[in-house]
Amino acid sequence: MNRCLLRRRNVSRRTAAATRAQKQGTEFLLSGLLICQRCHSAYCGRRSPRTAGREPYVYYRCLGTDKYRQGGEAICDNASLNGSPLEEMVWADLCDLLRHPQRLQRELERRMAILGLARTFASAR
Ligand SMILES: [Zn+2]
Repeated sequence: MNRCLLRRRNVSRRTAAATRAQKQGTEFLLSGLLICQRCHSAYCGRRSPRTAGREPYVYYRCLGTDKYRQGGEAICDNASLNGSPLEEMVWADLCDLLRHPQRLQRELERRMAILGLARTFASAR
């Protein structure tokens, strides 16, 4: 009986901690924003566990590699990515994009052109 109560108390502590973490925002800059080219699943951020002699680090992994999400068998074997250099590269590119808004304009026009072609294609059917 006491064990059940203790377990319930631990669960509510974990839930409260998860709720607090969610209210503070995401811990990983690119979580859910990266798409796997192999299986088209999202890459999500994780923090490695602390091990002897090694500090925890952030990495991103494809959700297609999770067996439990895919009915017991992974649909992808793409490698995880080291988070720090990846986040730095994306952040630098974003800053460059903001310094050169014409790049953003060109990309918007490119995507609108593709969308226009897609609409033309869809209406021709
Ligand atoms: Zn994948």
